[in-house]
Amino acid sequence: MKPRWEQIRRREISRANFRCEICGADGLLECSERWQYDDVNHIQKLMGYEVVCPNCLAILNIGRTMQVGGLERALSHFIRVTGFTEEDLRAATARAMAIWKSRSRHQWSIDVASEPLAGGKSPPSRSASSSARNTVQTRAATPAPTRRAPKGQTSFSSEELDFLKTQRLARIATASKRGVPEVSPVGFEFDGRFFWVGSHDQAIFFKTQRYRNIAAGNTRVSLVIDDLLSVSPWRPRGLKVSGDAQVTEHDGIFGKGKYFRITPRVSISWGIEKSKKGEWSSKKNFQQA
Ligand SMILES: [Zn+2]
Repeated sequence: MKPRWEQIRRREISRANFRCEICGADGLLECSERWQYDDVNHIQKLMGYEVVCPNCLAILNIGRTMQVGGLERALSHFIRVTGFTEEDLRAATARAMAIWKSRSRHQWSIDVASEPLAGGKSPPSRSASSSARNTVQTRAATPAPTRRAPKGQTSFSSEELDFLKTQRLARIATASKRGVPEVSPVGFEFDGRFFWVGSHDQAIFFKTQRYRNIAAGNTRVSLVIDDLLSVSPWRPRGLKVSGDAQVTEHDGIFGKGKYFRITPRVSISWGIEKSKKGEWSSKKNFQQA
């Protein structure tokens, strides 16, 4: 018998274009259930799946990773992908563990109505009770400042979106296949889902090192959009986005032509959102476009 779980796993990995949906890595991939927790009625609802590499999975299952090992490796991956400091991470893990502990005190019923292949009775893998346990742990272990947007949307805040509208220039970093980095100033626009980076001159566009890097297959890019609001006090503002770029036809700020279409994966911003302390603020999001 071909387990339904295997069917779901294959379907999801192909939906994700054979890439980790958090960090963009290819290679070995796993499919992780996404649950929503109703903390009043204690119902956990299957919202869908997320395709992740082993390192990102180890972070989603951080409680389990702490027991079975591999924590160091997973943490350094997480820090590399998100830009979190170790301190951020410790605090987020502690918060997540507290949520998991409080959720684990209750019996949870499971709602998998959204997954036809799951049969509407039990979760697609494992037994109901162990799955409930694992996934409560999984989701609770996701660091609190991290927010995932629904499919097709990014989770930029309104302040971040307003900031992006005021900016015309970004710096884009790419790397050659051998890892030689390159950074350059570019015009950009953000349409609510993708960042578009092109050139006022298509001939120049095709000659750039960034185009060669991406066309040669290293599609990982990083963008910084920033400015300085005041010198005294020193108030830098900015947003950093990591993602995947594709060269595609687009009618945008530079007219019709080829552009990089950048799908944001992770973003960090500073100085844009008002923090409760009324000062400098910083935020880290997973973006899912
Ligand atoms: Zn990953």
